Amino acid sequence: MMVHAILFDMDGVIVDSMRSHAGAWKQVLGDYGMVLDDIDILKREGMSGRQSVEDIFIERGRPVPDEDEFRLLLQKKNALFERDRISLFPQVVTMLSWIKKRNKPTALVTGSLRRSVAHVMPGGVLSLFDVLITAEDVTNGKPDPEPYVKACMRLGVEPDRALIIENAPMGIRSAKSAGALCYALETTMPGRLLADADRIFRDHESLFEFLKSHLD
Ligand SMILES: [Mg+2]
Repeated sequence: MMVHAILFDMDGVIVDSMRSHAGAWKQVLGDYGMVLDDIDILKREGMSGRQSVEDIFIERGRPVPDEDEFRLLLQKKNALFERDRISLFPQVVTMLSWIKKRNKPTALVTGSLRRSVAHVMPGGVLSLFDVLITAEDVTNGKPDPEPYVKACMRLGVEPDRALIIENAPMGIRSAKSAGALCYALETTMPGRLLADADRIFRDHESLFEFLKSHLD
């Protein structure tokens, strides 16, 4: 495998946070009389909060909230989300330390705000990544390739030498249009919704086993 760097999405890949995100959004948008399922949130994963909200209001034929209303909505969502304790997926620290020992640089590339990263990521784990890209670092979030392209630039690797680990369709689209290799984890949705990835893994353990036998 000609992989010079490994880039990780955060939610659903490093931290088991998607149920909390979905729960918080469902509650906040419920106040607007909208009944949402987890999949309404999961399928938009990777979009910024602003884009997801716009997209949901448009889909439901409702007027899109203005800037002030959106800020209030996001505040409520963040307050609810930050009440939850978010855990790392098993194997994450072991896998990151193993990659580090092989001298492959790593990046954490997320559509979340820096504030959410600070909430969900223990500092010790965050320091295992060489580069961090958040919503504040890009003009166009996933599914645009910008976040992953920018991370590759900071790492000093060509995107076609990068392996990206994702869990959501928008993230996979971003990774593939950046020209990178993309593996997906079935942590939040079934493989049939992740079919654009180059390889699909049931969980972190099977991904780690594969890397151990294929990464040079
Ligand atoms: Mg994700």
